[in-house]
Amino acid sequence: MADPRPYKKLLRLVMRAFYPGPCPPKHHQDEADEMARSKLAKIDTTGLGIVLVEYLLEREWVPEEQIASDLGQHHKIVRRALKFLEHEHIVMGEHRRETKRMQKTDVVKAVTATKAQQLAEATGAAKEGGDDDEDAVQKQHTYSYWAVDYPRMYDMVQLRLFVMRRLIKDEVDAREVLAKYMCKAPQCGREYTSFDMPDLITPDGTLCCTMCTGVVEQVLATGQTGDDEQRKERRKRLQQLLVDMEDQLKPVADLVLALRNAAVPHHGALIDWAKVQQAKLVGGGAGAGAGE
Ligand SMILES: [Zn+2]
Repeated sequence: MADPRPYKKLLRLVMRAFYPGPCPPKHHQDEADEMARSKLAKIDTTGLGIVLVEYLLEREWVPEEQIASDLGQHHKIVRRALKFLEHEHIVMGEHRRETKRMQKTDVVKAVTATKAQQLAEATGAAKEGGDDDEDAVQKQHTYSYWAVDYPRMYDMVQLRLFVMRRLIKDEVDAREVLAKYMCKAPQCGREYTSFDMPDLITPDGTLCCTMCTGVVEQVLATGQTGDDEQRKERRKRLQQLLVDMEDQLKPVADLVLALRNAAVPHHGALIDWAKVQQAKLVGGGAGAGAGE
């Protein structure tokens, strides 16, 4: 795999710049979601995105229940946050139906269990039995695994930088026309300005309403609102926003540029990854318990 270190650094910067708040952010939480009405909804998830990414950066593919148990978080909270990070093109998930029989013969099961054990031994945090967890796990049928998705993350960051710059530069350059943005959902129609852009940009470069997740489009106001003094003031604020943004995002932008021709690390599909890992574990003489 390509050297993941610069990409890890990039992702850490991105998480701090774009995802320091609740994970998922409030406006991304679906009201119809079963969790919205449960007591879990009240749990403060500020910084959870950063914690999850830090955790996954130190590992490769990890079973969801292991993530939840290692971080001491409710599995529903962890799952919802990971789904949001997947939606943002930061992590990738695989969901497999697994039978009890597979627990003993499956390469993915064997490799992830061995790796977890090795890590626990290395950090001196060997776990005791965990019978309760075991019971809960047996009742499930679909198991989820998560890993950092470096290639999609890199594309997302590039696009995000590009879109943010373009939107604001366009408006700084347009002397006479005030850009306005509007949610296209008929029942919503909320209006935005350039100052809201950082919150609206999605991983694919479109703009998404923070009230209703509808599509937000630029509507160019033909009539000029405000007098000359107000327009001048507004332009000044926009220019300052551009400067602030460039300042704040400079480390991210520099790293993106430096990595333009570098090979992107990729964990690959779960099953392919597990097979390679198993071969390594066996080859390295550390293959005890690896799927006999
Ligand atoms: Zn809306």
